[in-house]
Amino acid sequence: MRATRLPTPFLHTHDGTTHGHAPEPTVAAIGPGVWHVHGTVLPGAEPGDLWISGGRVHTHPIADATTIAHDAWILPGLVDAHCHIGLGPDGPVKHDTSERQALTDRDAGTLLIRDAGSPSDTRWIDDRPDLPEIIRAGRHIARPQRYIRHYADEVDPGELVTAVERQAARGDGWVKLVGDWIDRQIGDLTPLWPDDVAAAAIARAHELGVRVTAHCFGEESAAQLVRAGIDGIEHGTGLDTATIALMAERGVSLVPTMVNLENFPAIAGQAEERFPRYAAHMRALHGRRLETIGSAIDAGVRVYAGTDAGGSVPHGLIGREIELLAAVGGIEFALGAASWRARSWLGRPGLVDGAPADLVIYATDPRRDPAAVRHPVLVVIKGGVVAPATPHGA
Ligand SMILES: [Zn+2]
Repeated sequence: MRATRLPTPFLHTHDGTTHGHAPEPTVAAIGPGVWHVHGTVLPGAEPGDLWISGGRVHTHPIADATTIAHDAWILPGLVDAHCHIGLGPDGPVKHDTSERQALTDRDAGTLLIRDAGSPSDTRWIDDRPDLPEIIRAGRHIARPQRYIRHYADEVDPGELVTAVERQAARGDGWVKLVGDWIDRQIGDLTPLWPDDVAAAAIARAHELGVRVTAHCFGEESAAQLVRAGIDGIEHGTGLDTATIALMAERGVSLVPTMVNLENFPAIAGQAEERFPRYAAHMRALHGRRLETIGSAIDAGVRVYAGTDAGGSVPHGLIGREIELLAAVGGIEFALGAASWRARSWLGRPGLVDGAPADLVIYATDPRRDPAAVRHPVLVVIKGGVVAPATPHGA
């Protein structure tokens, strides 16, 4: 790719240079502009041109456009399909922390987030032209003592349907259940909800026009919830062959959060002394994770990229998630899972004429160089242009 030629008035780094070596994210030109990009839009093969004006993409020339990239590789805005904005290790966080989380994701190329549960009200982000679009799932729904403290709307099984109604009203078409968690009395993962309660909650969500997804580490919860008609499974390390087949048949999505699965050995280590059975279970799930997720991909389950940022996982790791998914399903698959296929699943267009101008620009072909996905040279969000800082150690 030839050097990007953002006119200097539009490229302000904090040290006054235009080289992007600043340690802080650098904002170029948020807001309206008339831009032209030339390059290969994936998943296509032929180089072409796009024009950006009024926050939209155009496939026909627009006069007086400034060329910001030439001979580039272009992806429709990345999707982090399992991310938490407004969530920290101890639950809700302040606005400035939420803002930093969203900016970090944006600078990694994530322009659409399916928020998989947040105790914070992040509606204010919807009015910000410089922050990613968020599709919310309300707050996690769990039982008392059966999930991380201060995260969830905690209810007993008898109140699950009401909690689904409550969280459906806070969300944007999704509800998030905690499907299983450690039961400290038993010392192992067990499902949170009886079969009939889960089925009633999912049916109620569907009546409201809302999709349901669930956190499932173990075998039982995923099998139970897929049988009950759920729309998505998060993590899915306990998926068995029959459940995978049913998910493929019904079009149930799977967001494995490969980045987070890397933490299972550490989780097991911390639990070892008090809960050895749980620790061994987590190690076993981790040990066969590539096989499990690979089987789901091979069976045709719709798999999407999600980092599980928020809580304990850092934001901005969508590139790492793509690399880990590529190791299982191949790079073209992983890129689609984080971009064009995920966008279509969530009802958002690719880079067609008139679509919102959300795109990510790379200097090298990410299909040949998966590590390149971690370093977009430019991010176009809602028509505004951002030049992310070169990360430390890059
Ligand atoms: Zn999560």
